[in-house]
Amino acid sequence: MKNITVIGSGTMGNGIAHVFAQHGYSVSLVDINEQALQKALATIAKNIDRQVAKGTFTETDKTNTLNNIKTFTKLEEGAKNADLVVEAASENVKIKMDIFKQLDVICPANTILASNTSSISITQIAAVTKRADKVIGMHFMNPVPVMKLVEIIRGYSTSNEVCNLIMETAKKLNKTPTEVNDYPGFVANKILMPMINEAIITLYEGVAGVEEIDTVMKLGMAHPMGPLQLADFIGLDVCLNILRVLQDGFGNPKYAPCPLLVNMVTAGHLGVKSGKGFYDYANGTKDLVLAERFKKQTQHALAQ
Ligand code: NAD
Repeated sequence: MKNITVIGSGTMGNGIAHVFAQHGYSVSLVDINEQALQKALATIAKNIDRQVAKGTFTETDKTNTLNNIKTFTKLEEGAKNADLVVEAASENVKIKMDIFKQLDVICPANTILASNTSSISITQIAAVTKRADKVIGMHFMNPVPVMKLVEIIRGYSTSNEVCNLIMETAKKLNKTPTEVNDYPGFVANKILMPMINEAIITLYEGVAGVEEIDTVMKLGMAHPMGPLQLADFIGLDVCLNILRVLQDGFGNPKYAPCPLLVNMVTAGHLGVKSGKGFYDYANGTKDLVLAERFKKQTQHALAQ
């Protein structure tokens, strides 16, 4: 494995390109949006500067890493020589199906096709290709350069050989790969999203306010971040989509998203990325300032 193609240069794609390039792989970063590619290169440079300031990286490492990344807006040009493709485009079934259909034609027969999807079935993605044995989930965590885990998802037809090779590749990136089977939400989101949903239901029912719920989970369960703050960081729209995948996939009402989550997403309150969620990020920082409407909710909850 030498040539890695990363598709999508958003939040996850730039981090994935960064770690592969940092470990000496030749990376082709593809996005349909040229601006997104330029933003990704700037983000990678900024994140490396932080590593340089900490003394974990040198200026030479920075130059080498950036030189290992080339950008493309055409999938064919970016993917034709890939040994491994890691797709990190938007979480949308139609977009992913379309990309994998094209990759199956563009890439050499032995290219492994991985997806960084948070919730879409790897088996379903593999079914649009003629190489289901070489399709696998490689689910990096956000922020990619920092987080150790890569959840490796074995599709129904993924071969042992491909699974082992991807486990070894993740180790070469200094990550800890963990193999799981392909069922809705895999392991990470099957457990995390019901917890986040339950925290929102707890708020909705008036059991406690935003800060109280987050404090109980942070200090009581030793979570580094409360579930409502975490939901804001992940994106409330992303949380809602994943809960719907779990609800549809298992046909179990226990995954039904809380109506408050649905309302917030409909109103465009998506968390950090929109500046408003359970907390208010209007001042451009990620500091915890309780959103105005939940101040009332807290008083209401505590008065009951
Ligand atoms: P994002 O919205 O930040 O970036 C997606 C990028 O994909 C955009 O730049 C967009 O222009 C590009 N894109 C869309 N269609 C494309 C196409 N046909 N070809 C090439 N590029 C295309 O999204 P993200 O948060 O980086 O998520 C990407 C994937 O990673 C999703 O599958 C998501 O579920 C998964 N994921 C996200 C997180 C997270 O915390 N954000 C964590 C783990 C996994």
